[in-house]
Amino acid sequence: MQGLHVMQKVYSHESLALVNSAKNLLALKHIDCFIKNEFMGSGGHVGLGTALIELWVFDDAQATVASSLIEDELIKVVEAPAWQCLHCGEENDSAFESCWKCQRSP
Ligand SMILES: [Zn+2]
Repeated sequence: MQGLHVMQKVYSHESLALVNSAKNLLALKHIDCFIKNEFMGSGGHVGLGTALIELWVFDDAQATVASSLIEDELIKVVEAPAWQCLHCGEENDSAFESCWKCQRSP
C-alpha cells in the first residue's frame, strides 16, 4: 500500500465565488480539496495577467471524479452562456441548439 498522494489541480477560474462553489461541491462528496491563489484575485479588478484562482485535490486518485463533478454540476450550468437568435432576436438558453421561437440555428 502506497501512502503517497499527489496533489492535482482540478479547476481554475478568475471568480472566487465560482471556485468556492466547486469546492463546496467536492466537499459534499467528501473529496478533500483546497484553494490556491485565493488572495491573488482579490482587489475587485480582473484584468490581463490576473492569476486564476485554483482548486486542487489532495489525492490525484480523486481528480478524475472531481473534474467530472465540476464539469457536470458547475461548468455546464454556470458558464454556458445564453445566446440571442440572429433572426428574431429571441434569447435562448444554452441548452437549445436552435431557436425555440423560430426554430432556426444561430
Ligand atoms: Zn429565432
